[in-house]
Amino acid sequence: MYIQEISIEIKKKVDKELIVDEFEALMAYYRSNGQIQGKIQSQYFSDNKITCLPFTIEIDALSNKYNNYYVNIQSEKVESLCNSKLCFKNVGKYYESYNGGCKCKKRDFFILMTNYISINSPIICGNCNKSVPLYKIPVIYDYGYMPILSWETNYISCDCLQMNCEVGERWGLNQMQDINSQLTKQGIVICDKIKEVTSIPTYYYLHNYKKYKRDQFKRTCPSCNNKWDLKKQLHNFYDFKCDKCRLISTISTNS
Ligand SMILES: [Zn+2]
Ligand SMILES: [Zn+2]
Repeated sequence: MYIQEISIEIKKKVDKELIVDEFEALMAYYRSNGQIQGKIQSQYFSDNKITCLPFTIEIDALSNKYNNYYVNIQSEKVESLCNSKLCFKNVGKYYESYNGGCKCKKRDFFILMTNYISINSPIICGNCNKSVPLYKIPVIYDYGYMPILSWETNYISCDCLQMNCEVGERWGLNQMQDINSQLTKQGIVICDKIKEVTSIPTYYYLHNYKKYKRDQFKRTCPSCNNKWDLKKQLHNFYDFKCDKCRLISTISTNS
């Protein structure tokens, strides 16, 4: 991840609390357009300046060319309230070797996947296994991607329940691994929508922590019951893939 700095100087006599709220709203619009990652940004007020340090997948994620209607409208609002211009600066990256998300010219398929600690885009390129920023695909709803982010938040909530073990562990886990759960159904609708707007088949990652011995695992797709084990593990992670139902999964580690 890249760490960016977005700041604005207040050059007008104005209610500073209001500016903080409007600046925060701008960050929310950037997020819902897939330009910044994660929900909590370091935002602070110092002297007459508000600064935020969001994560982005690509170095140029905050470029105007990716802005949507709401980002543009809110940017203008903040700039006019402050009587100055927003400033953008790349301040670093999380790992020295990090060089952004998927750069494939041609993508054969996507995988919809996230987990409780991920702040990456939940759209993974099936060819290189890297994240694809949301703004790189056509908008799916009201200039943005809220349905994808809603599924993502629900998935992360379920994953947190099962990781924390004390409250709703079994329920959260079942939401993630049952083909008929509300969470899976919501995710499959999103996959269909992504395929519709990109023409790229989009697979739903079905978590698998069922208690089977490794060699006893019933190797058929939970939706169509056809064989779905891959001859060779994909990206050192995926063991099952059904091209008919567009589902992808792994061998359970719970043996
Ligand atoms: Zn790729
Ligand atoms: Zn199937």
